[in-house]
Amino acid sequence: MQNVCYVIADEKFLCTEDGDLILLNEIDVQEFSLELIVKHKIKHHDGFDVQVMSVIPINLDGFKWVGLRNFLGQFTEAEFQTAGRALQVLRWHFDHQFCGRCGNPTVQHTHDLAKTCEYCAIDFYPRLSPCIITLITRGDECLLAWHKRSKEERYSCLAGFIEVGENPEQTLEREVMEEVGLSVNNIRYVASQPWPFPGQLMLGYFADYANGDIRVDQDEIISAHWFRYDQLPTIPPASTISGQLISAFVQQRKEHNSYNNNVAKTII
Ligand SMILES: [Zn+2]
Repeated sequence: MQNVCYVIADEKFLCTEDGDLILLNEIDVQEFSLELIVKHKIKHHDGFDVQVMSVIPINLDGFKWVGLRNFLGQFTEAEFQTAGRALQVLRWHFDHQFCGRCGNPTVQHTHDLAKTCEYCAIDFYPRLSPCIITLITRGDECLLAWHKRSKEERYSCLAGFIEVGENPEQTLEREVMEEVGLSVNNIRYVASQPWPFPGQLMLGYFADYANGDIRVDQDEIISAHWFRYDQLPTIPPASTISGQLISAFVQQRKEHNSYNNNVAKTII
């Protein structure tokens, strides 16, 4: 099996004219008139390496360059994760060419995915920013918000960056209070997902509504409402952790209400 390679220019992936992602092998690479800037291995899979190469952007007849967000909902979660890793490895490469402490050029670490400043003896790894993402629920309802960063009207979970000195549960309580003015309790972890815009690790939680009335932070959110599990607005795709938290809640409420209906029938 040959090694395969993502080709990225200006943070966009080489694709066919129809927008299908292209993974090149070593032979294909030579057929394109691409000017290589750097190449990194991003993972080993089933006996071959997956690599990413950064190239000088050029127009190629019959091909186009596409940003990763366009693949949301098209890729499986695993495909999106690997392509996201490719993008983040290149970002790390370009963002850590010099030491932030002394300004000298860094060198590639001998065996880690890291760059080293030999003068300061510091290693720079790709930066990860941990975040919480949470679905707040109240019986059959969940709280969803239309965020300003979403151009179209789409409602999703609340999310925020973990600040230094915080644990994820404290971040969750702070973010929910800041963004919608509500208190929550019974916080429980569900699942996580890497999110490459630009380098988050999303920690997904459920939380129960405790008290307060919705008061939206106008800087980040356009509107936020309670939605019944069977009357949801447009939500993020199932490949995102936000979509998965909402789907899990819907499933739970369906099962809960179906059980209650059966119990009621039995009693009657
Ligand atoms: Zn240094």
